[in-house]
Amino acid sequence: MKYYSTNRKSEMVSFDEALLHGIAPDRGLYLPENFPNVSAEEIISWKGKTYAEIAFEVMKRLLEGDIPEDKLKEMCEQAYNFEVPLEKVSDGNYVMRLDRGPTASFKDFAARLMARLMDYTLKQKKEHANILVATSGDTGSAVANAFHKMENINVVVLFPEKEVSQLQRKQMTTLGENITALAVQGKFDDCQAIVKEAFSDAELEDMKLSSANSINIGRLLPQSVYYFYAYAKLAQNAGDEIVFSVPSGNLGNSCAGIIAKRMGLPVKKFVIATNENDEFPRFLERGFYEKVVPSKNCLSNSMNVGHPSNLTRIVNLYHGWMDETGKLEGVPKITSMNNDIYSLSVSDDETIETMKEAFKSKLLLEPHGAVAWNGLQKFLKENDSGLNVSIETAHPSKFPETVKKITGKDPEPADCIRAVFDKQEKFETIANKYCEFKGFLKGIGGCIAGEKT
Ligand SMILES: *Cc1c(COP(=O)(O)O)cnc(C)c1O
Repeated sequence: MKYYSTNRKSEMVSFDEALLHGIAPDRGLYLPENFPNVSAEEIISWKGKTYAEIAFEVMKRLLEGDIPEDKLKEMCEQAYNFEVPLEKVSDGNYVMRLDRGPTASFKDFAARLMARLMDYTLKQKKEHANILVATSGDTGSAVANAFHKMENINVVVLFPEKEVSQLQRKQMTTLGENITALAVQGKFDDCQAIVKEAFSDAELEDMKLSSANSINIGRLLPQSVYYFYAYAKLAQNAGDEIVFSVPSGNLGNSCAGIIAKRMGLPVKKFVIATNENDEFPRFLERGFYEKVVPSKNCLSNSMNVGHPSNLTRIVNLYHGWMDETGKLEGVPKITSMNNDIYSLSVSDDETIETMKEAFKSKLLLEPHGAVAWNGLQKFLKENDSGLNVSIETAHPSKFPETVKKITGKDPEPADCIRAVFDKQEKFETIANKYCEFKGFLKGIGGCIAGEKT
């Protein structure tokens, strides 16, 4: 299978190349040129399989010829060694909790398989890579955890010194080995600017710098799996259709769902629920696109995105064309987007109200999952009810104060959260200056830069 760039100015590339480069030379994002097909009967026949086994079934179809099946199977088993609960709330209505991975965030699902795919691919090529990640908290910890102990990869995580919670910091600074954590005396945008400059610095070329952010196709594809998993476990007949409600920011999660549908998953509707950063629902309503600048700070802080990077992919999947800045070069088929997608924006007040209401019926949600749950309830007011799954993307104990304040309930800490508090932290702090970072990178990179195994 070949991968094309959403900007359509670069050559098609192999999976290896898309995975290791992340972004295309024309600054577009990669998408597979076509999608393998799976029938509803076949998906239902996976009912007795574990999550890791279903991941293997889906991924082997997407990566056929790129990764040997026995290796892929092993990677899926190692990546998905935790439970994926489908919590029944009422007849036909479920919450899928994607929060039982090592950082209690759904980002573990994407990062853990991508890490293994990258490590394998680098070993085949007898190469090393240095991954740079700028994070406002959650991505950094998921990526750092996922790549921990991968032999051919070093990771440097840059986080804003004063803008991450103690828990988020500990999740990045207690790993050690091939993971280096760096506190930057600045904001998240400063961390991102430093990483960007490093990528375009010719003097660092021999360091084989790579990124692991949400735009990487190797992170996107594994997220299609949980949509198949929910359907396999919950659908009874091949004629059954399913509705998913997805709490969305950069739209990676939603885009992976749309890919699952393209592969044949019988999805009746995607409810794409955003917080007050409402550029996507407004786009579907009006057919023209306007970013939210600056993005709004909402309770569901991992969804505070004013211009989602995966929008270009979704536009492409509906036969349109949008460049990375958000300029529409070709209008997508808005009608068919609206057939597949019901999108809405949920305010912070509604998020709080939803968390309170849900908890009255013993459903404990944190702000991101509450945005999705609210979206699903609104959708069901206007539509017939069948099989509905709302996605919870973080563990309530990642937001203990917020959850306690709103619901009155002290969330039981996830095991991984309890474990991290006893571990020793190790990180350095640098000034918000590119030259400091470069010096630091050369220091730690000295022993690994461009080195072959
Ligand atoms: C990243 C994140 C999201 C948003 O996912 P996208 O794929 O960017 O739309 C939602 N919830 C949580 C907890 C996240 O960390």
